[in-house]
Amino acid sequence: MRTESRTIYIIGAGIAGLTLALALAKFGATVVVLERAPGIHEEGAGLQISANARKILDHLGLSDALNTFAFEPAALDIVPFEAKKPLVSLMLGETIRERFGAPYTVMHRADLAGALYKACRRFANIDIQFGVEQVDVELHTRGASILFQDAAKQNINARPFAVIGADGVHSQIRREVMDGPDARYSGMVAWRTMVDIDPLSDLFSTTNSTLLWGPGFHAVLYPIFAHGKFNVALFTKIKKTQIDRGTVLQNPSLPRGLMRSPHFKAILENAAMGWTYWPLYGVSTNVWHRGPVGLIGDAAHGMVPFQAQGAVMGIEDAAVLASLLMSKPTALEALTEYAALRRPRVRKVQQISAWNGEIYHMSWPLTMGRDLVVWFQGPKAHLKRLAWIYGYDALHAPGRAEANPA
Ligand SMILES: Cc1cc2nc3c(=O)[nH]c(=O)nc-3n(C[C@H](O)[C@H](O)[C@H](O)COP(=O)(O)OP(=O)(O)OC[C@H]3O[C@@H](n4cnc5c(N)ncnc54)[C@H](O)[C@@H]3O)c2cc1C
Repeated sequence: MRTESRTIYIIGAGIAGLTLALALAKFGATVVVLERAPGIHEEGAGLQISANARKILDHLGLSDALNTFAFEPAALDIVPFEAKKPLVSLMLGETIRERFGAPYTVMHRADLAGALYKACRRFANIDIQFGVEQVDVELHTRGASILFQDAAKQNINARPFAVIGADGVHSQIRREVMDGPDARYSGMVAWRTMVDIDPLSDLFSTTNSTLLWGPGFHAVLYPIFAHGKFNVALFTKIKKTQIDRGTVLQNPSLPRGLMRSPHFKAILENAAMGWTYWPLYGVSTNVWHRGPVGLIGDAAHGMVPFQAQGAVMGIEDAAVLASLLMSKPTALEALTEYAALRRPRVRKVQQISAWNGEIYHMSWPLTMGRDLVVWFQGPKAHLKRLAWIYGYDALHAPGRAEANPA
């Protein structure tokens, strides 16, 4: 493994970019993160972090921080539309820990971003610059150069070992530097809010997460005790024209009959904080790098969040790419191997996420067959069915180098 310092620029300080910065810094790289926003900002609220990503975060030294704000649900209650009780409660908690070697937790995304940022600040070899509005990356035959204006409006020109676009689903690096595709609108939006726990505690478990199915829509709810609230994400269909014209109303455009469900009704009646909506986009591209410029996280593979794996895949990307960037002789070799390792796995996760949407949103009479199968499979079937996701160990992926002591 090479040990001399390599300078790597990361565009975007989201979950993926910050995880990569931390992982690289632990290997001894010099890391510069350029973020457009004026500070760490995470829109929305809840985030589920499954065992495969939690292992990586623990390895990066975040275990104590996560233990202070993350909650570990004992199970996932699945409640079909209009049902009063869960059809099945899929085991999480201790069962996941034992089987996959790390917990499955839920948290406020701002807490995770804050913990990653705080951890990055401890490394003198990480420089995070905020308020960088314009970044130009140019590819040459033998590398890439980067030109940007820092927050003090000074022009900076650099020729790093690699530039990594962690700039989200609408990635400028993907579209402009790699001539990659625009993100595609999925037809659905996520409505997000947080709701007081007390008024809902008769209907919803405070030890479990809840997945509510409906015809053409669904919702996910779980307690985030560090914020004293239930996190709610409600997913509904909305036409692209409405989004483009900015004519989406302030509240979830309610699908017909939604209030027939006691669970949806209770959520809507108690959403005192109001809702924010988030159009869901996906990215499908085989081009994850050009020369020494690569992509991670949503920039490479944005997906609908119906398997709760978008951020998790970004964290895995970071773990795999950091070791390759520090152990391969050139960035091109590192990125080529990274893409070959990651693309098939991530594509499979994208597919299962989209397929979950079909299952969650079924209408009667298809729901009868679906509910029977899910009930018959029982509370443990997911442990086997999803073992390829939760049991994956990115820390021991091929090509991984030994980390320098931090
Ligand atoms: C409702 C909902 C629920 C979800 N739940 C889960 C879940 O439970 N578990 C899970 O794993 N995933 C979940 N996801 C997906 C997850 O939120 C995303 O996959 C993840 O946040 C993507 O992280 P990222 O760092 O790749 O991108 P982003 O979070 O989009 O970060 C990109 C960063 O780059 C910056 N940036 C953009 N352009 C530029 C530029 N040109 N120059 C400089 N900076 C730039 C942005 O300001 C931003 O800070 C959910 C998504 C939604 C919508």
